[in-house]
Amino acid sequence: MITFYPGPSKVYPQVAGYAQEAIQSGIVSLNHRSPGFMAVVEETIRLLHEKLVIPADYHIAFASSATECWEIIAQSLTVTSSLHPYGGAFGKKWMEYAHRIKPMILPGEADVLCVVQNETSNGTQVRMDTLTQFRRDFTGLIAVDAVSSLGGLAFDWSLADVWFASVQKCLGLPAGLAVLIYSPNALEQAEIINDRQFYNSLLFIHENMEKYQTPFTPNGLGIYLLMNVLQQLPPIAEVDAVICRRAADWYRFIEQETDWRLLIENPEQRSDTVIAVRGNEDAIRAVKTAAQKNGITLGNGYGDWKSNTFRIANFPAIEDWEIEKLKSFLQTYSPPGGPV
Ligand SMILES: *Cc1c(COP(=O)(O)O)cnc(C)c1O
Repeated sequence: MITFYPGPSKVYPQVAGYAQEAIQSGIVSLNHRSPGFMAVVEETIRLLHEKLVIPADYHIAFASSATECWEIIAQSLTVTSSLHPYGGAFGKKWMEYAHRIKPMILPGEADVLCVVQNETSNGTQVRMDTLTQFRRDFTGLIAVDAVSSLGGLAFDWSLADVWFASVQKCLGLPAGLAVLIYSPNALEQAEIINDRQFYNSLLFIHENMEKYQTPFTPNGLGIYLLMNVLQQLPPIAEVDAVICRRAADWYRFIEQETDWRLLIENPEQRSDTVIAVRGNEDAIRAVKTAAQKNGITLGNGYGDWKSNTFRIANFPAIEDWEIEKLKSFLQTYSPPGGPV
């Protein structure tokens, strides 16, 4: 079975071997405050900086999920409230979670701007030039959810103070771990707020990470797998070039070689890592079932687009032969009554 589900998504094929190694070598049974385990954490952080070209002065910590990162930002980095210029279901959910913790009173007083770089639900993205404008116009911290693009695209990290992603999407790993990246300014804001109320208050996490430790027992297997996947990952500029080429090819293919329509009409807004394809409910249901019979899992629609779209993940763990297989399926299959 091959999967184009945009999360949890296909894991890199090598992950099976790394997981076996982690168990056989006893890594998963190491005390998380032991030197052996701390060395794995240290190396993983070093590799994140190196492979993703994260600035040396940006800090990196681990959390369990992107949802947890949403809460950490609201608890530990937001003074009054946060602004959420969203364009899809994940952006909306983030706003709802954040405002439960720091309710919005006056939008003009918001001190954190929360942006979903890649909106997995509908296949749109916020490009770096838009982030540049936000940076120019907004004086507070900028936090970016990059769950379905981190590990696939090259970012200008300086355009935001906080970046985060869980690993089960574009990073091609099993769920249960998230990477939280934060600037010196973000840390300064955390120190001013001085939130120490929660097990996952950013200052606790930060102080532990200075010793390559975490406040609670972390997902050691997940960290070990991440370290190994980063070791095999080419420099992010190379990965980015492959992903963008494949994305351009997917968009051209859907428009020119199938009867399907793209959900997002404006090419500027289209995601490079999640392609959303639109059709009527019956056609969408039929194509997903037929694909499944051919050994291919398509991504369901999400939120408002649950029943009239399917999604194709364009993540780096997916291989060319899999893409070719899905293309030839889509070329030959046409749903009863046509897809419109
Ligand atoms: C999947 C997803 C999330 C939620 O991730 P969890 O790891 O399940 O918390 C948040 N934001 C975006 C953009 C996502 O695609």
